Amino acid sequence: MIISIASGKGGTGKTTVATNLAVSIGSNVQLLDCDVEEPNSHLFINPVFEHTETITTPVPEVDESKCTLCGKCAEICQFKAIIVIGNTVLPFEELCHSCGGCMKVCPEDAIKEKGRVLGIIQKGRRNGLEFINGTLRVGEAMSPPLIRKVREFSNQVGVTIIDAPPGTSCPVIASMKGADFVLLVTEPTPFGLHDLKLAVEAVKILGIPCGLVINRSDMGDDKVRTYAGQESIPIMMEIPFDRRIAEAYSRGELIVEHMPGWRERFIELYRSIEKAIGTLG
Ligand code: SF4
Ligand code: SF4
Repeated sequence: MIISIASGKGGTGKTTVATNLAVSIGSNVQLLDCDVEEPNSHLFINPVFEHTETITTPVPEVDESKCTLCGKCAEICQFKAIIVIGNTVLPFEELCHSCGGCMKVCPEDAIKEKGRVLGIIQKGRRNGLEFINGTLRVGEAMSPPLIRKVREFSNQVGVTIIDAPPGTSCPVIASMKGADFVLLVTEPTPFGLHDLKLAVEAVKILGIPCGLVINRSDMGDDKVRTYAGQESIPIMMEIPFDRRIAEAYSRGELIVEHMPGWRERFIELYRSIEKAIGTLG
């Protein structure tokens, strides 16, 4: 079972939900931190890292001695990532989506692959929990390829929790695609509602069932609840504003380990997700 924890907007408590849910479920659980531009789940999980690997993506390298400047590579590239200017073929690595098209069409076999570093992936454990995160290289603009690499570590056996990046663009889609359930974390404010609506639209396009967690639920207004009712999206948990939760977060602590009753509430949240998936299945 793959559960993706997402939020249209940053700062809603997505990582709090992902980490506390993951440690509450028990054994045979993975937590994948796919917020590769700013991974922070490890600060709460404190895993013992066992493995680090550098992730690269193939980009073209042109052998000018073989190139006849025919332009076929530039013609096929949908991203303008390789162009012919005067007597030179110029690849733009940062624009390349690693589709391999230019290498396939080159009649002179003048294009070879080389690796462009995307970032690193770290794998570790905390008791029964397997933890994997990706960290995008500073200056790297494309995070989806690294997110897809992190997701390759999903073992498809137990429960995989994905901490998705905030927003509704390509990195989030890469973190939600193929999930069995998307848990959207929001807050009852106009900004929260605005970004929640965008996130729900994205989830609908992907055809994945979803539910809501409302954080700081006793602040703001009722518009998020009204919207959830209109869209028939179940509200699966409400987390009221509590200074102790904010303090635990600032210390890098899990609320299920420091505040009584929360582990049971997160287990209940997991049971509700299981039930929702079961009902739909
Ligand atoms: S691999 Fe694909 S995206 Fe990259 S330069 Fe070649 S054709 Fe363009
Ligand atoms: S397709 Fe090959 S031969 Fe033609 S311009 Fe590109 S690199 Fe040169």
